[in-house]
Amino acid sequence: MKAITVEPNKSGTVRLEEVAEPDIHDGSVLVQAIAVGVCGTDVEIVEGKYGWAPPGKDRLVLGHESLGRVLDPGSQSGLKKGDLVVGIVRRPDPVPCSNCAVGEWDMCRNGQYTERGIKQIDGFMSERWRIEPEYAIKVPSSLGMLGVLLEPASVVAKAWEQVTSIGQRAFWEPRTVLVTGAGPIGLLAALLGKQRDLDVHVVDLATSGPKPELVKSLGATYHSDGVANLGFAPDVIIECTGVGQVIADAIQAVGAGGIICLTGVGRGGVTNPLPIADVASQGVLKNNVIVGTVNASKRHWYKATQVLARADRSFLSRLITRCETPENFRRALHREPQDIKAVIQFSEA
Ligand SMILES: [Zn+2]
Repeated sequence: MKAITVEPNKSGTVRLEEVAEPDIHDGSVLVQAIAVGVCGTDVEIVEGKYGWAPPGKDRLVLGHESLGRVLDPGSQSGLKKGDLVVGIVRRPDPVPCSNCAVGEWDMCRNGQYTERGIKQIDGFMSERWRIEPEYAIKVPSSLGMLGVLLEPASVVAKAWEQVTSIGQRAFWEPRTVLVTGAGPIGLLAALLGKQRDLDVHVVDLATSGPKPELVKSLGATYHSDGVANLGFAPDVIIECTGVGQVIADAIQAVGAGGIICLTGVGRGGVTNPLPIADVASQGVLKNNVIVGTVNASKRHWYKATQVLARADRSFLSRLITRCETPENFRRALHREPQDIKAVIQFSEA
């Protein structure tokens, strides 16, 4: 079968090639790939900046934002042939740490977790893949191709759960939420904010293209003139850019009792650094919480299926701005200015 593979930590090694059929030891459920989403992590792996091949191998099958159709459900999965499924990405570390021991692999404490398509386990960019029944998430068939958005939606479902649980530390009636960045994570975070009946604002640099329209179609407000010029103090900020200056502005902009949830992974410093003690003083005097969140545990994947099932299909479908064939995978890995989510499509949904 065909698969898109890469030799991690060596740029220029990605290729579409023939590989062996998936090993039964990878899981009792056999799945035909429908589509795999591409994100910044895939690009980093292809550029040789990140990623680990499976033990004893040189190459890694890429891809962690999966969607497929069950070809063979095996004996004890509860799935049926033809069901749409998405594969959970992370597996608990082998020690395991206390969090992995209770199924909270997203909160792994020792960093020895593994991840499909990223860290030591082959991913989903192959014509067929196998998965353990307990790591297969059934997707409502009505979602079809839109099920490929489940992985980013799971990350956002966890972020909102973190915000909600932190909010319970005191009397809390949030009204306004600011989302920084209108990429797939930001737009899904805005969707969840609307599903919670909040007054949602999204800030991004784009002044044209699909982002302003998508935000408007949610019933949210779009801003392109920066966090510092909002004119109000948000109760919640979901930070999805990883850009130092945006984070610094968010810390200054958040309201009293407000929560800043960091989901973006950036690099490098702030061009205009805030004195740390001044930042801390603001946090103290306003009872702020800054929380980082990554990945998702199984309940977040389940919650994400509910989020997508409830969402407007036209909004979700406009998040997928490009479908490329496996042969044209290089085009999917190259971000175009108008892109929100590019996917590689292996078969019909
Ligand atoms: Zn762990």
